Amino acid sequence: MRVGYILALCLFIIFNIFAGARAYRSKQKSNAQILAKLLFTVCIPLSANVILVLARNELVARFGYVVFFLGTDWMLLCLLRFVKEYCNYAYLGTRMRIAAIALMSADTVSIILNPFADHVFGVQATTLRDGSVYYAVASHWYHYVHLALNFGLVFLIFFYVIRKILQSSTVYLEKYLIPLMILALTSVWEAYSILRSSAFDTSMVGYGLCGVLFYYTVMHYHMYLLTDRMLSTVVANVTDGIFCFDNEGHCLFYNQSAKEMFELSPQDMRAAERTVEELMSVNERYTRDYVKETRHIQRNGEERIYEIEYHTVYDSRMIYTGFFINVEDHTDEQRRIEEETYRATHDELTGIYNRQELYRLTEQTIRRNPETRYVIVVSDIREFKMVNDVFGRETGDEILIRIAKAVQEFVRETDVFGRIGNDKFGLIMKKQDFNEEIFLEGTRLISYVGDEHSYPLVVHIGVYEVTNSRLSASAMYDRAFMALSSVKNELQVRLAYYDEKLRDDILWEQKIIGTLDDALEHGDIVPYLQAQVNRDGQIEGSEALVRWNHATEGFLTPGRFMPILERNGMVVKIDTYIWEYACKTLRRWKEEGRKEMYISVNISPKDFYFIDVYEVITGLVKKYEVDPSLLRLEITESTMMRDMERKMETINQLRKEGFLLEMDDFGSGYSSLNMLKDMPVDILKVDMLFLSKTDNIQRTRAILELIINLAKSLDMPVITEGVEEKHQVDALTEMGCDMFQGYYFAKPISLREFEERFMDRGTA
Ligand code: C2E
Ligand code: MG
Ligand code: MG
Repeated sequence: MRVGYILALCLFIIFNIFAGARAYRSKQKSNAQILAKLLFTVCIPLSANVILVLARNELVARFGYVVFFLGTDWMLLCLLRFVKEYCNYAYLGTRMRIAAIALMSADTVSIILNPFADHVFGVQATTLRDGSVYYAVASHWYHYVHLALNFGLVFLIFFYVIRKILQSSTVYLEKYLIPLMILALTSVWEAYSILRSSAFDTSMVGYGLCGVLFYYTVMHYHMYLLTDRMLSTVVANVTDGIFCFDNEGHCLFYNQSAKEMFELSPQDMRAAERTVEELMSVNERYTRDYVKETRHIQRNGEERIYEIEYHTVYDSRMIYTGFFINVEDHTDEQRRIEEETYRATHDELTGIYNRQELYRLTEQTIRRNPETRYVIVVSDIREFKMVNDVFGRETGDEILIRIAKAVQEFVRETDVFGRIGNDKFGLIMKKQDFNEEIFLEGTRLISYVGDEHSYPLVVHIGVYEVTNSRLSASAMYDRAFMALSSVKNELQVRLAYYDEKLRDDILWEQKIIGTLDDALEHGDIVPYLQAQVNRDGQIEGSEALVRWNHATEGFLTPGRFMPILERNGMVVKIDTYIWEYACKTLRRWKEEGRKEMYISVNISPKDFYFIDVYEVITGLVKKYEVDPSLLRLEITESTMMRDMERKMETINQLRKEGFLLEMDDFGSGYSSLNMLKDMPVDILKVDMLFLSKTDNIQRTRAILELIINLAKSLDMPVITEGVEEKHQVDALTEMGCDMFQGYYFAKPISLREFEERFMDRGTA
């Protein structure tokens, strides 16, 4: 018996040391180190027990008991510490620990003092049945205190574990239940050992076993169990639907999400199998180990989008054990993405493509069909801003929606149509499908129906035939808009094509407009003077004709830039500059005492729009103290076309001031002989260039004669310009023409040359 007991104790000691060492080295668990300490301390009372069993004299037995009592003290203390860690009682703070350590330390001191005070225990030699002696403990009063302290610790340990069990989720039940059972088992064994009143104390075997069991529970057993529990809880709760199948294709399990996603009743494995059949064909399932795909499936009358992942499962020996399917419902996300994409690519108001998408699809269309010829068509509503201002934004929006709808119905599937911005729409279509007539017809249909009237809207169209497919879409649409802008001021012409000339014209226009101010500032704009002579060949005056010494383009005659500046009104800047220049020159001539000569200046119809012509001109003659009769003013018939009354008044005021008015280019425009009689002009300037193209000299002669006679009858002197040859001069003189201006006498020349030639020398 004694030998068997010693063997058991030694075995437990070895095992506990071995387990303790393993736990100590283990990095797997945070509480392994504390477990190691517990296992090592268990060895102390175990060893003490060995000493007691082997003791052959009282002294050794006494020593054995001291070690035993101290060992149980510190073992229980380590057990408490371990339970605290194991149950993760972080809040069981230092105070409690210090109290426990203090009590145990006091107990230790007390036990160590036993040889002197003899208050803890004594030993009693007993002869066992086999005749050997065993020194049993004889308890003195303090032994009961020591036991009470030990039981107090045991009670605390139980208390903590039970409390933890009551607080924890069921997943952790096992984690705490097993240690509780081990502790209970040890306690029962202890009680049994005490009650058995055996010759020697066998309770220690229980503690040895307790250490072994703890080691197994902490380091091995609960880990897998808990992981399994945890994983199945995770699977049950993830948002993806999960179905697990065995190797025969029977459904074993489906999680909560799968149940909700496919409205399955609990534990209805057949329904789950049918659902999976619907999601994946059997073929897909058995031919591969992993399949991932997106499926569109009709459920309850609406299409739902599922992303399905299929995984086969093999055991450690690579034997097929089943499969599982993971289903994610992407319907809502997909819808959201679709909505976002729609919003990013479509115009909010009209529902057609927005500019970015139109450009993107245009480039894509051209790239994908390199053989096909395409045209880009853009439209712009004239004065659309006015529609918004007058009729309100809603009306404007409504018109845009109507246009978008109308065009949308008419475009083909291969065309791409979109709104570029505001009232501008764009379209790319095959050249063979493009029909100018249809577009023009379409623009004529666009009108706004107001309260009582229908207001037609003027829509202009620009067309660019894609000749350079390497251009960006935005450059292509820009070209179509360039074509459009070339007719945007016209009411009759509503469609224009882009060509290289148009591009050059537009670039030229931009250059002229962009450099005018600098040119005026730097004196690059100068008037040339062309002499006007009388019938005797004497110079009476000159006409100021503008020239531009352009910084990069060289010498420019008015034909190159005046029409552009006329169109946008910038001509005013040139005219006022030339008028002032003429006044300055007249003033200088006066001061220099030169021969008195007038200068004729041109007034553009646009000047009347932008400035008060009367104020400016009278202001200038006053400023330079020039005789108004020396600054002659040329107006054209077209000036009088609009707002005639107001202009007549201005002209009459100027005449009253002493200015002489000339009717320029008479006969070249919408000449109306009838109009002449009402025109408040002093001199008639006939442009013979308009007649020069015709070979019929007889006819030319007849018309000129008529005009001259008419002027005579109205008491108006006549100047003929464009006279290039002597016979013309002779004929015109015969007809009664008073003055001449033309290359025959002099070309327009610079002021300096003019002065040199005609003033210093005095003849033409
Ligand atoms: P315009 O006022 O009728 O000027 C006469 C034009 O006829 C000038 O052209 C002159 O050079 C040209 N000319 C004169 N005699 C002959 C001739 O014998 N043969 C030919 N082939 N041409 C002749 P230019 O200087 O090119 O001016 C063209 C037009 O530009 C002017 O026609 C005028 O309408 C406008 N212009 C010129 N300077 C000004 C200006 O300062 N202000 C405004 N508003 N218009 C101007
Ligand atoms: Mg003129
Ligand atoms: Mg003229």
